[in-house]
Amino acid sequence: MVSRVIPVDPFDLVIFGGTGDLAQRKIVPALFRRYCAGQWPEATRIIGAARGALTVDGFREMVAESLRQHAPKRAKDQEAVNGFLQRVEYVSLDALTEEGWAQLAEMLNADRIRAFYFSVGPRLFGPLAEQIRAHNLATPQTRIVVEKPFGHDLESARALNATLAAHFDEGQIYRIDHYLGKETVQNLMAVRFGNMLFEPLWNSQYVDHIQITVAETVGIDGREEYYERAGAMRDMMQNHLMQLLCLIAMEPPAKFDPDAVRDEKLKVIRALDPVEPHHIVRGQFAGGADGRGYREVVGNPRSTTESYVALRAHVSNWRWAGTPFYLRTGKELVARSSVINVMFKDAPHSIFGEEAGRHANALSIRLQPNEGITLKVTIKEPGQGGMRLVDVPLDMSFAEALGPENQDPPDAYERLVMDVIRGNQTLFMRGDEVEAAWAWTDPIIAGWQARGDVPKPYENGSTGPGDAELLMKRDHRRWQGINP
Ligand code: NAD
Repeated sequence: MVSRVIPVDPFDLVIFGGTGDLAQRKIVPALFRRYCAGQWPEATRIIGAARGALTVDGFREMVAESLRQHAPKRAKDQEAVNGFLQRVEYVSLDALTEEGWAQLAEMLNADRIRAFYFSVGPRLFGPLAEQIRAHNLATPQTRIVVEKPFGHDLESARALNATLAAHFDEGQIYRIDHYLGKETVQNLMAVRFGNMLFEPLWNSQYVDHIQITVAETVGIDGREEYYERAGAMRDMMQNHLMQLLCLIAMEPPAKFDPDAVRDEKLKVIRALDPVEPHHIVRGQFAGGADGRGYREVVGNPRSTTESYVALRAHVSNWRWAGTPFYLRTGKELVARSSVINVMFKDAPHSIFGEEAGRHANALSIRLQPNEGITLKVTIKEPGQGGMRLVDVPLDMSFAEALGPENQDPPDAYERLVMDVIRGNQTLFMRGDEVEAAWAWTDPIIAGWQARGDVPKPYENGSTGPGDAELLMKRDHRRWQGINP
């Protein structure tokens, strides 16, 4: 099974913030890998646009170094690197002044697909949209790509949506949540809607509860200022975990089409109940043998920003009434692991008697690392001694199951940037989705502020604060392990 490469039409991609961390670490290497795969035609150009008086050669050197660091395997092919660099241009430009805009206008080709990637701080999203309009750079074939964070709360997200809508149609706006570009996240839809096996059981009659865990071992180094204002709720829960929840909980869309999928996701967000304060646990890493505490890292001994959050959510609709969704995410935890566990109910009656114990099926969908699916099934424990039952995993790793050609699937940015060029918005958030997610998140954060809530400390390298275990224990449930 070899993955197919479907070539796209020639395009001009302008990366505002082209010299920044995200552009150099993620976007440019992703474009290079697609170039090596033969996905984009020769005529295509990548134009870095940023503040800073670099020459084109200087920018190309920067790009070459990024490729060596972030796409090392393919960057060994010097011919490929040279070919790619020939297609890279640079313009020194300021989003807030006239500097560079006339030059950029001259560089763009009127007949091509045109994409503007806003890889800059959010305060520049509005000014960039205005400049693009003011300089008549937007053609019908133009798309803009907006990075996270998309707003800080509902009000700012609405204002940003309104600014963008004043200059572009919704069909031209691509709001990135890179989680949606991950191979396994899309596999969630394939598993649910491509198999007859799961969908009949995918409801509160058979599912006891669902756990979504996104655990990180990294801290917040280098992002202190942003993180101190955001916290785990805004940085991870409002977007990544919410998107995973939507894909797990949504109704089958009539077809795999951008608005059909996004309509169903939106219905899930709108069906979420407000979260009760006693159904949320906030945590803050406090240091330990493995490193410094959060407050020390941000240099604020009184900081009450959470680096961990666990909560119990309810989707109030016919499918899910009565099935809780437990979501947790945090930094400086014991392992890097993103996994969704669908925990089924016990069989309604055990024919094997009390001594066989209680057993229930569980489906684990691992997003990272070691992407794959495990279904826990109950079988007889081998040997003599009566009917003892034991749970065993039916384990499938995508890398093993799909063969060596698929060991290295395109990363999220490769897929998403090519989707922008193809004009496919399925894996991008629509404006109303983002606003609905903030509408659910805002009262939670406002509640913390009103109560002067202080996050519970947890040790670096642990599974998070003990109260998160209690959140489950109170419901006679427990978190599945965060596996190293
Ligand atoms: P960065 O600070 O490394 O780079 C910012 C870039 O913006 C630089 O190229 C700079 O020259 C340019 N810039 C600044 N002011 C400008 C102006 N007035 N006009 C034109 N260009 C200007 O930032 P980053 O880490 O690359 O992040 C960019 C965006 O992506 C942010 O919105 C960030 O939240 C988001 N993001 C970053 C990451 C990441 O891993 N770095 C991940 C997800 C989202």
